Amino acid sequence: MFIVWGRKLVYRKLGHVADFCPICRKPRPFALQRIGSAGHVYYITVSQGELVGYERTCLKCQTTFNAEPTQYAKVVPKPLPWNDMVRQTFPTLHEAWADRLALEQQVRDNPHTLSAQDRHALIRNPFLLLSPKVEKRFASTHMDKEVGFALLGAVVLLIAVPALARAVVPDQAEVGVLVAMGLGASLVVWQIAMSGSRFMRRQVVPVLAQCLQPLQPTPGELQAVMAELKTLKHKMGSKLKLPELYAQLKMKARGSAG
Ligand SMILES: [Zn+2]
Repeated sequence: MFIVWGRKLVYRKLGHVADFCPICRKPRPFALQRIGSAGHVYYITVSQGELVGYERTCLKCQTTFNAEPTQYAKVVPKPLPWNDMVRQTFPTLHEAWADRLALEQQVRDNPHTLSAQDRHALIRNPFLLLSPKVEKRFASTHMDKEVGFALLGAVVLLIAVPALARAVVPDQAEVGVLVAMGLGASLVVWQIAMSGSRFMRRQVVPVLAQCLQPLQPTPGELQAVMAELKTLKHKMGSKLKLPELYAQLKMKARGSAG
């Protein structure tokens, strides 16, 4: 008998804390998780595994960052009203993040008074923070609903085309099976290939645009960051389409002006 075993990452929810989100550019509630590496048999684990680290996920933008649980006074099981949440979990949040909060105030009030160095760092930062999410996505094949529909379409083709072939050209029915298999496979491969750009368009570009919009970055500033990401061989450098980001930034600028 073939036994599937090995190690896998186990994520255990620890509760909720308040902290600063560099993507939202504001203090936010977070879900805190412990990551362990545990042995599995048929993907079933019985322990929380050896400690690998901790992460926190912003409840607003869903971006995940590394976390250090010892910095929180307490971890609460459920998100509380905001002031209680800060008081109980991270009472020194505003002091601990004072410099960053002052910089964010300047971003909101007058982004063009920032020093060139601060601007570059603030524009570059969200790309680097979202990069692990992009790397993780492209490390393996993922199914989205369009890939699901393509698989369903392939099954329908495999049933319909041979049946049609048997009815129309009974002596060539096996050709119908081959045609259906070819069409179905192409459909699925095509949709898997397209799913990467859908992921970027739906889950990365809007978050990035929301984060960058207050800075009103110029195309030149964005191109400089993209060139750097390409040099560093981040998947983000090749998978992100700048025209899509420009379009979203324009839409958000119109939304906030109107
Ligand atoms: Zn956030």
